[in-house]
Amino acid sequence: METSAFPAELIRRLQEAHHIVALTGAGISAESGIPTFREAQTGLWARYDPQTLASPEALARNPGLVWSWYAWRRSLVRQAAPNAGHRALAAMERLVPRFTLVTQNVDGLHQQAGSRTVIELHGNIMRTVCAAQRHVVTQWAPVPEGEAPTCPYCGSVLRPDVVFFGENLPPQALEAALQAAQTADVMLVIGTSGVVYPAAALPGLAKEHGAWVVEINPQPTPLSDLADTTLRAPAGEALPALVAAAWPRQNT
Ligand code: NAD
Repeated sequence: METSAFPAELIRRLQEAHHIVALTGAGISAESGIPTFREAQTGLWARYDPQTLASPEALARNPGLVWSWYAWRRSLVRQAAPNAGHRALAAMERLVPRFTLVTQNVDGLHQQAGSRTVIELHGNIMRTVCAAQRHVVTQWAPVPEGEAPTCPYCGSVLRPDVVFFGENLPPQALEAALQAAQTADVMLVIGTSGVVYPAAALPGLAKEHGAWVVEINPQPTPLSDLADTTLRAPAGEALPALVAAAWPRQNT
């Protein structure tokens, strides 16, 4: 992406910002080979709606199926590495007075890229907890295909430590994200379809509190209308170009 493609106002806002907040979604990890939920509905899993797999009801009704789906998603995350978009956000954090990364992703790629202040709104797929008590579990007895392992402490079924559809977000993470949105000078909204709440409310909140909102997404979303600048490009192209344009003398 040409650095001249960016509006001068956007560059000035980035350079003068005291606090930049980035809100990321599955789209930023798409270029690392981790499918978004929409893309994930191909091949083996095409006949399942993610909402019927990533839910407490599904875990109760068919724990083996939910585990197989997460085993597949975990294998994709294990094989993935951060891309240029993740790395550009880690670089940006080192260039501005204050930077907060709020992610809906559960893949840990921002931390792998070197981002330090990361709020995981939807948990982390590589962690395992039990359904009843939220014991964090690192080892469990193997079970036959089609069944789910159980907690060595309380016997309840194990699950990935992610927020299922219909569940509340971790309160501390949500509170920190709300605070960040209210104090942002610029909010970058990257690779999110803007339909999963309460994350999707953060750009509107930031704007109400005076932030300049930038959407980076090849496709329009319900958040596009509130954005002050829209960059219709993949995050892996737009973000490195944006960092180079706003901080040209820095070696990122
Ligand atoms: P989503 O799948 O609903 O939407 C992805 C968005 O990214 C779309 O708007 C798409 O146009 C855009 N996109 C695709 N490729 C892009 C690219 N290269 N650069 C920029 N944008 C791109 O994702 P969501 O809004 O994050 O919400 C779905 C839920 O799915 C979240 O709760 C999240 O926890 C979960 N999820 C996470 C992962 C992950 O951790 N990597 C993967 C799939 C789903």
